Formats: sequence, C-alpha cells, structure tokens
Amino acid sequence: MARYVFITGGVVSSLGKGLASAALGALLQARGFTVRLRKLDPYLNVDPGTMSPFEHGEVFVTDDGAETDLDLGHYERFTGVPARKTDSISSGRIYMNVLENERRGDYLGKTIQVVPHVTNEIKDFLAIGADDADFMLCEIGGTVGDIEGLPFFEAIRQFIHERPRGQCILMHLTLLPYLSASGELKTKPTQHSVKELQSIGLAPDVLVCRSEHPIPDKERAKIALFCNVRPDAVIPAYDLKSIYEAPLAYHRAGLDQAVLDAFAISPAPRPDLKRWEDVMDRLENAEGQVRVAIVGKYTQLEDAYKSIAEALTHGGMANRVRVKAEWIDAEVFEREDPSPHLEGFHAILVPGGFGERGTEGKIRAAQWAREKKIPYLGICLGMQMAVIEAARNLAGLEDAGSEEFDLDAGAQRFTPVVYHLKEWVRGSHVEARRPDDAKGGTMRLGAYEAVLAEGSVSARAYGGTRIEERHRHRYEVDIAYRDRLEGCGLVFAGMSPDGKLPEIVEHAGHPWFVGVQFHPELKSKPFAPHPLFADFVRAAVEVSRLV
Ligand code: GLN
Repeated sequence: MARYVFITGGVVSSLGKGLASAALGALLQARGFTVRLRKLDPYLNVDPGTMSPFEHGEVFVTDDGAETDLDLGHYERFTGVPARKTDSISSGRIYMNVLENERRGDYLGKTIQVVPHVTNEIKDFLAIGADDADFMLCEIGGTVGDIEGLPFFEAIRQFIHERPRGQCILMHLTLLPYLSASGELKTKPTQHSVKELQSIGLAPDVLVCRSEHPIPDKERAKIALFCNVRPDAVIPAYDLKSIYEAPLAYHRAGLDQAVLDAFAISPAPRPDLKRWEDVMDRLENAEGQVRVAIVGKYTQLEDAYKSIAEALTHGGMANRVRVKAEWIDAEVFEREDPSPHLEGFHAILVPGGFGERGTEGKIRAAQWAREKKIPYLGICLGMQMAVIEAARNLAGLEDAGSEEFDLDAGAQRFTPVVYHLKEWVRGSHVEARRPDDAKGGTMRLGAYEAVLAEGSVSARAYGGTRIEERHRHRYEVDIAYRDRLEGCGLVFAGMSPDGKLPEIVEHAGHPWFVGVQFHPELKSKPFAPHPLFADFVRAAVEVSRLV
C-alpha cells in the first residue's frame, strides 16, 4: 500500500506546487522508491481539453488518451513515470460521475450530498492504483480557503483519518512576503494559511516556504513554533535559474529528508543524484547557442507551449548548446514578408493549434523554411500546414486547405488535403466520429504506433522504424493525395501500421524538414531528450556553424 503525500498551497496561487511535487517525486526516486503523481483540480470543467490555452496553458495528453493539466507534464519530465487517465481529476469529473450514478439509481433513493457522496467519489479516486508505487503524491490545485476546493480538502481529511496512522502526510506550500521598508520577511500569511488548514481538520507535516530572500534561522524557528511543524520540516524554497535545479535545490534544503522523517522511515536510503547533477552540468556548461523561431498563435502565453519549450531545452542539452526560443505571431506573415523576421534563426518550429486564424502565416513559414533549407519541425497543425504548403506550391493544388477551416466557416473554400477523420483503428477496435460530435474528449487522443521509412531523417533520428507517440487532433492528411505529393518531393516518412494515416512527412533534398502529426514534445525529458528534438537542434547547430 502506497504512502500518500498530499500537497496543498496557501497565501497565493502560482507558488510552484507542481514543480515542488515533481521535484519531490524525483528525490524519492533518487532514494530508490517508486512514485506516482496525481493532480486534483477544483474547477468545474470535466477536463482541460476544451479550455483555451489562454485559460489554462497547454493541455497535456497521456498515453491512455486523457487530456490533463500541464502539471502532469512536469511530473513526467521529472520522474519519467508515464501519467495515466487516473492521475488527473477535476471537480467537474467528480460531479459528473456522481450525477450519472444518481441518474442510474445507484444511490437507492438517498439524498445526494457533498458529504458523503462527492467526498466518497474523491476518496475512491485517491485509492485507485494505491498498490502501484511506494509513494503516491497528490497535488491539490488552487489555494486552501477556495470555496471550490473544500470538498477535496474534506475528502483528504477523511482519507487520512481512515488510513493506518503514519501512512499519509501533508506538505503545504506558502509564501513569505518581504517588506522592503522594514527589511523583513513576514510569516503571518503563512500562519493564517496553516490556521485555515487546521480549521478544516488538516495539519501540515512539512511546510515549504517560498521566499525571494534568505529565511533567517530565527524566522524558521518562529514558523515551526506557530505552525506546529518541526523546525527541520520548514523548508526554504528560493527562486531558481532553471526549473531543473529544483531536485538538487530541494534536496539541499532538506525536503526529501523531512518527508522521510515525517513517515518515520529510518534509516533513510541514501540518494543517488547523478541524473540531476548531469542535467545541471549540461544546462550550465552549454557551449554556444542556437536561435529557434516558434511561429504560433498563442505566443503571448508561454504556458500554452510549455512542453515544446521544455523539449527544445532538452534538445539543447543533448547537444550541449543553449536553445534560445523566440515566439513569433504567425499572423504577422499574413501582412509582411517572413524574410526579415526569420533571417538569423537557425531553425523554425510550427507548433500545434486549432482554428483558421494564423494558418496562412504558418503556411508561409513552412514555405520559407523549405525554400531556404532551414531546419523545420512542424507539430500536428504545423505538419498539416507543411503539407498544404507543398500541395499549393509544389503540386499545383492552389486551393489546398483543411476541412477544419471549412467546417468552422460553414462553406467549402478549400480542396481538403487535410480532412476530418471519421474512423480509425485503436488497438483492436474501430473509433468513429461525426463532425457534430460534442467537442470534449472526442479527438484522436493518446499513444498510437507509427512505422517509419528506412533511411528517412526521422528513422535516423529515432534510431529505429517503429515508434509510439501521443496524438491530439481531429483532422488528418488525406492519403488520396499521397502519390501526387510524393511526385513533388514530399516524402510520407511515417505511417500508421495499417498504412492509412500519415504520421510523418519530410522533404527529399532538404537537410531537415520534418512534420509530425503527433506531439513528440510530450515525451521529452531533461535526462532523456526526445530524439526528434535532439536531432532538430543538432541540425540547427549545423546551420549556426555555416553562418
Ligand atoms: N487542429 C488540428 C486538428 O485537429 C491540429 C490539432 C493540433 O495541432 N493539436 O487536427
């Protein structure tokens, strides 16, 4: 039976709970334990799949096809443990389950209430997979005191109460604000947030205190005294240059030791931190820099492409260079010549996206990369745009486009080189969709296999011809155009095993032009950079050496 660490936040949001959870997971692994991380989100959306990236940042997709919070991306990047559908839950999903049970008559005529029906549903969820790891780390979104979070906190209180003593602990993150006028760190908000927890029957075992200034011992002692935690369980958390410093920094601050102490695990196994020392060495001792232009739509919000930004960093680490990613709004290229904007970049990446806005600009970016022989990585929509570019400018299909834009506009304006996928094979069964299906959870989602062409750029990068990558899209390149496009030099370098769905396209005669229908960025880790990103950055390094 796993030991549970519940991770909550107080005082303000955005304290880095996800990162602290992920780093703790990595540190427990470094001591030889197995871990699983889980996120409980209090919002009422059933999952973040239908939320705009502006609302919620990137949607992270698991192998088993769940659309989840981007914190699950951090968990995977730090622990390498593939997340599952059952590692992400929202109030919306919990209420939906409860209401479905009610409609089925499962509650036998009882009045349905938050306690016990909603809290029971949350506890059932917490218990799933409890035998799968030594530690289950459960992060609760939002801050203590939020109205929406209350059922989760109550469920956790009951859960801890019902388990054997010593099987669950609570780690609480807070902020120590600094008053420059008096030159002091203030502990009062932390005290209040712990009081708030206590008022709902919860008490922290470990307190992680974010601070922009060093926390003097006397303040640590004061926090320990007033918040009823042991002094060595008050862990300072300072700002870091890179998120990948977090495991080593939290280790130095004593976090993993404090957690093991709270469980009375003694003697604590010694940690092996080589993996993270190597990661930091690669980050800090990079030789040279490459510039990559990311031509996308949600450029104002870095979280919208979180995994891509991280995967590029990992690609840099694989080549011991720093990757400077710069975000360019695709719509600019609809008004202006791309050359002055793109010259000086060593590679171009066009990420995924939805809807027509900005797509003509992405097509022009793909054309520019193809013609100038600059490395191009097109991801999902970025691959579809590269195919449309080739269809229009090489194969003479001037009105080539995607059905996505026609369906949105309610008129047929394009030859649908990219069409709405209505039927495909998943494992041993067929999935079917209709254009008027509900939007939530109905895309082609999760891990699918692909077969790569021998000798292709991708096969070389992967070092093999069978891969499995995660998908999240509704539309697909139509193989009806394959011969015509291949006749013009577009290579269908990766296909679904049944040969029906194009997974990768490349341009023959171009040093590095790869469009992928899937999202490779989701599987990249700092200690295991994704092969496509590593090779893309390698190609960018080559360009940087030429100029
Ligand atoms: N909008 C496109 C589709 O649904 C691409 C999706 C994406 O880039 N993730 O197929």
